[in-house]
Amino acid sequence: MDLTAIKDDDMRRCVEFHGHICPGLTIGYRAAKYAIKLLDLNFSEDEDVVCVTENDACGVDAIQVLLGCSAGKGNLLFHMRGKQAFSFYNRTSGKSVRLVLKAGNDGKERDEWQQALMEMPDEDIFEVKEVTFKLPEKAKIFVSYPCEKCGEMTAESFIRLEDGKKLCPDCYEEYSRFS
Ligand SMILES: [Zn+2]
Ligand SMILES: [Zn+2]
Repeated sequence: MDLTAIKDDDMRRCVEFHGHICPGLTIGYRAAKYAIKLLDLNFSEDEDVVCVTENDACGVDAIQVLLGCSAGKGNLLFHMRGKQAFSFYNRTSGKSVRLVLKAGNDGKERDEWQQALMEMPDEDIFEVKEVTFKLPEKAKIFVSYPCEKCGEMTAESFIRLEDGKKLCPDCYEEYSRFS
């Protein structure tokens, strides 16, 4: 697709990363932009933004690009609820907000819906709510143990106990399935 046709620089970066333009990506773009406004985010080096997303759809890519949230850094968390809802936290200021999509496409064609999502005022797209999750601690380093069946090192928080043996989730499931 012709990226130069996209006038908005931030949107262009999102499309570049995501691979295509779509209504879902636009929802994430608008959520990230709204969060920047509501939480006074300004992206200093140590700005600590955390996003808890309730879906793993296209929009999450825009949030990664615009807010620097990523699974690897531990500031992008998935709390899968099948909802177009995103909570944002600014660790520096302690401010937080949960944005829940309220705009509906009302039978609009894909392109028309995409365009509408770009133009609608923030408050028509999202309901602004209080966050419902406590912000998790900064990414912890977990102790690992070797699984007593397959021998693979497994983080403490994933170890299951079966008859006093430490098992990884794969071996534990195998065990409980056939017993
Ligand atoms: Zn998409
Ligand atoms: Zn194992």
